[in-house]
Amino acid sequence: MARYRDAVCRLCRREGAKLFLKGDRCYKPSCPIEKRGTQPPGQHGNSMRRGKALAGYGLQLRQKQKVKRIYFILEGQFRNYFEKAARQKGITGENLLFLLERRLDNVVYRAGFSTSRRQARQLVNHGHMLVNERKVDIPSYQVRPQDVITVKEGSRKNPHVEGAWQTAAGRGRPSWISAAGAEMSAVITGLPTREDIDRSINEQLIVELYSK
Ligand code: SF4
Repeated sequence: MARYRDAVCRLCRREGAKLFLKGDRCYKPSCPIEKRGTQPPGQHGNSMRRGKALAGYGLQLRQKQKVKRIYFILEGQFRNYFEKAARQKGITGENLLFLLERRLDNVVYRAGFSTSRRQARQLVNHGHMLVNERKVDIPSYQVRPQDVITVKEGSRKNPHVEGAWQTAAGRGRPSWISAAGAEMSAVITGLPTREDIDRSINEQLIVELYSK
């Protein structure tokens, strides 16, 4: 029961899906979602909250919360991403996800330098990450094709980074990020596509929410 009081795992249970917020544990059978399924947190989570199916605004709101939690973004910044996505050509919902995917902290996680986006955010904030051999400590930095992401030389022996890198292949990398194992570097080979992003996200619901 104590495991279920873990704050971040409660967020997964709240959203009824694995959000991969806790690093290594998310990939192990000890993940509470693997062990117990998606029962919402709280003593009466199953009977009271799931009993009543979400619809309309409730569904839209939950989807927005889920994506904010996956990418570890606060409301104001998320809204800014949405407005930027709406100004771009193409499908607004997909644009929104692409902007989030191209954040440096997300790329650090997706390339395999960390086992969670939170850990990736710390690596960037603390100045451990280089883009094209220059330190970039802004998690929201948008990567571009041909960017090369590496770890600062003095940080390569960091046990969290080393451990994450060694197990990265097992977690899988998206098609637009290519990694060179020995050099501990990742190259942005293209732009994210919808197929590279969690299919359980329904971004259209977020568009509907913000379009009210
Ligand atoms: Fe916890 Fe990770 Fe499982 Fe979510 S996916 S419930 S954060 S262990």
